Amino acid sequence: MGIQLSEHQKKDQAAFREFVNKEIIPHANKYDSEERLPDELLVKVARQGYSGAILPEQFGGRAMDYITYGLLNEELGRGCASVRGFMMMQNMVALTLLKWGSEEQKERWLGKIASGQIIAAFALTEPEIGSDAMHIETTFTDADNETYMVNGHKKWITLGQIADLFLVFGKRRGKLSAVLMEKDTPGLTITPLTGMLGLRASMLAELHFDNSPVTKENLVGRVGFGFVPVGITALNLGRYSIAWGCLGIGQACLDACIDHTSTRKQFGDYLKNHQLIQKMIADMTVNLKAGRLLSYHAGHMQEMGDQDAIMEIMVAKYFTSKMAFKIASDAVQIHGASGCSHDSAVQRHLRDAKIMEIIEGTSQIHQIKIADYAYREYAG
Ligand SMILES: Cc1cc2nc3c(=O)[nH]c(=O)nc-3n(C[C@H](O)[C@H](O)[C@H](O)COP(=O)(O)OP(=O)(O)OC[C@H]3O[C@@H](n4cnc5c(N)ncnc54)[C@H](O)[C@@H]3O)c2cc1C
Repeated sequence: MGIQLSEHQKKDQAAFREFVNKEIIPHANKYDSEERLPDELLVKVARQGYSGAILPEQFGGRAMDYITYGLLNEELGRGCASVRGFMMMQNMVALTLLKWGSEEQKERWLGKIASGQIIAAFALTEPEIGSDAMHIETTFTDADNETYMVNGHKKWITLGQIADLFLVFGKRRGKLSAVLMEKDTPGLTITPLTGMLGLRASMLAELHFDNSPVTKENLVGRVGFGFVPVGITALNLGRYSIAWGCLGIGQACLDACIDHTSTRKQFGDYLKNHQLIQKMIADMTVNLKAGRLLSYHAGHMQEMGDQDAIMEIMVAKYFTSKMAFKIASDAVQIHGASGCSHDSAVQRHLRDAKIMEIIEGTSQIHQIKIADYAYREYAG
């Protein structure tokens, strides 16, 4: 399979690049150290149409195909993983509502997410439950005929500090379900989480629900639709975004290494002429090319609506997240002390890359699913 972008995709890619080079890269280390994305940037991201990138135009979206959406993630990831994460979350929640939300929910929320008027977040993980998502403990019980009472505790919620709308997962009579909850819901307490290793500008928060009322019209899909299909719709798009975002991290690190090794001399010669350095550059290049093929393939399958796209996306996310961490680690090595400095981009990429192996399903959970697939697919 070759990678052939259409003229339209090339044009979009150039525009994404220009935006990232101008608006994000010069400030990304500041976002990281201040642990915040400025409001003006989020407005600019939405104005470009990125918050509703995959939504249909009818809801104010850009109606991107999956390859174009991948290119957007790659470019944002090259600039700043937290900005990519912001964009990813808006599209994850928006796509989930588009597929499983009621007509009223779509009319009420999608245009606002796409335009940046509101910020959406995805609240699945709990302090006691991460990978084992089927066993979350948050509950939706009946307050009356029209209202659920939500009780429970969510942790590590990206954008939790600034989100207006949460897609909250919980159990309704033991069945995993999802509801929309607005930030000013009574009984909802939001506590910022700071000092993370990576994705430091993602404004994480912990959420406590203490008898928080949610109208039953806010149920997304049906009772029991929580993980499959609602959660999977969101997580599949999230993994796809991360796969491409990791290509961006890898490319940013490779670019930085090409620059650095072409200008820095040791032992009387440029670093690029030392063969041990060349080995690292070669491995980075090969891994990036392999990751790119996996990501394009996954995007193509998703665009075709192929059932196997979910697995191909998992394969791509698993590979590229490990790849990005290795490339970023070698990039810090190649930069020596200057790569360890707070003003270097490669150290930020290294910290962000580690997080990519944990979120939207850890590497181990991916390994388990990929091995299951292998036994199904290749057993004699
Ligand atoms: C920066 C950041 C942003 C996040 N944003 C969000 C968000 O917006 N919304 C949200 O809901 N969550 C979010 N999360 C949480 C994230 O989804 C979880 O961290 C992830 O699902 C893993 O869960 P856990 O951290 O509880 O680890 P655990 O599930 O406790 O796992 C710990 C370790 O054990 C391994 N492990 C677990 N089970 C098995 C097994 N069966 N076999 C082998 N190994 C196993 C894991 O791979 C991991 O290495 C975020 C996390 C981070 C760090």
